Amino acid sequence: MSPSPDAGALRERARALAQGTFAARAAEWDRTEQYCWANIPDLLEAGFMGMTIPRDYGGGGRSFHDAVLVVEEIARACTLTARVVVEANMGGISAIMEYGTEAQKRLAAGLGLAGDKPAIAITEPEAGSAATAMTTRAERRGDRYILNGRKVWITGGGVSRLHLLFARVFDAAGREEGIGGFIVVCDPRQGQLPKGFSVVRREPPMGLRGMPEAELEFTDVEVPAEMALVPPEGFRRGFARLMAAYNSQRVGAGTIAMGVAAGALDLAVDYVKRRRQFGRPIAEFQGLQWMLADMDTQLAASRALLHQAALSQGRDSRFPDPVLAARAKLFASEAAIRVVNDALQLFGARGYSRDLPLERMARDVRMFTIGGGTAQVLRNAVAAAVLGMKLPQTRDGYLNREAAE
Ligand code: FAD
Repeated sequence: MSPSPDAGALRERARALAQGTFAARAAEWDRTEQYCWANIPDLLEAGFMGMTIPRDYGGGGRSFHDAVLVVEEIARACTLTARVVVEANMGGISAIMEYGTEAQKRLAAGLGLAGDKPAIAITEPEAGSAATAMTTRAERRGDRYILNGRKVWITGGGVSRLHLLFARVFDAAGREEGIGGFIVVCDPRQGQLPKGFSVVRREPPMGLRGMPEAELEFTDVEVPAEMALVPPEGFRRGFARLMAAYNSQRVGAGTIAMGVAAGALDLAVDYVKRRRQFGRPIAEFQGLQWMLADMDTQLAASRALLHQAALSQGRDSRFPDPVLAARAKLFASEAAIRVVNDALQLFGARGYSRDLPLERMARDVRMFTIGGGTAQVLRNAVAAAVLGMKLPQTRDGYLNREAAE
């Protein structure tokens, strides 16, 4: 896939909105821990919500690479708003648009294009990196599934309308079928949650404080069977299939990290030219010049890896290549933490003040080596590709493999 012919204009449009409108609001979402509701109409008007949803469903029909261009510009100004754009284009929504039934696609597209940021619920208290150890159950009873379980760190829990919940699926005879996704719609702002569905608590996160990270509990929640998201091979291979959609979310998350760091570098470049010590602008100190050179180089490398991953869309599947996505998110998220930290250092004491955005950026960017696949788990994925081997992580995984050979 190649970049869109209007990629430059798209980026400029995103930059104008981010710098002209979102930048001035970003500190307030962090301070008040409020979701960025006021930015949603602006995102809708710009066509950035559902920009990757196919045109047949009312979306923008754009590529993940286009979304990456927009996300970088928005992340330079507001990490929270950039996360909304990623999840409105690259998360659970893309799994539904790829594998959903006609009715599911119309439902998800309709909500997204009305401003909803969907939530994807996989993680449980005892199933983090080992996601397939999840214990939430979906049991078939007649024309519905009954869901029971608990999910933690669910981004948007309490504000999102569409939830893509993952659970172990059991057929009517009680036989386990695999792991599947279930679409549950609610309207938390109006206090409308399905019976048995509760938002138990909101985490107090270090950064990105305007985004609710919620613990959700399901007690005998009834989901109509037609709201099960079943990929072509059925539930047994369903989780792996549905997780392929998550590769686009990984590219999006890495891009947010890179965008925040690019914003921090912009601020630092401006500051070192203005700040004078020892009778000269601090930009004249070679030690600081080399810091800036390293920051710039790390960002350029991150951007190249992220664009390469985004542009792999359509090569083998509708989603980015899993190894390119893992490599790009791994590198970009770790580089962003270093770059933002160095930018803060270049501001001296001012960098440590809440009057400037550097400390917020440092808190925000810290999450991207954790959420959506930790840096260690991504290294496992890259290592498996380098070695050309499956690298099972369970205690008896290697033993089982030898026995099988
Ligand atoms: P653990 O899996 O317990 O890991 C602990 C440590 O051990 C980590 O350093 C990890 O890298 C390491 N580790 C674990 N296994 C291995 C291994 N095999 N090899 C090497 N190292 C390993 N989840 C959702 O479902 N939906 C969301 O919307 C969502 N949003 C999130 C938002 C934020 C801000 C955060 C912080 C998390 C979010 N998560 C979400 C959860 C996230 O996906 C998990 O935190 C992540 O998968 C890691 O799981 P864990 O926190 O339980 O850590």
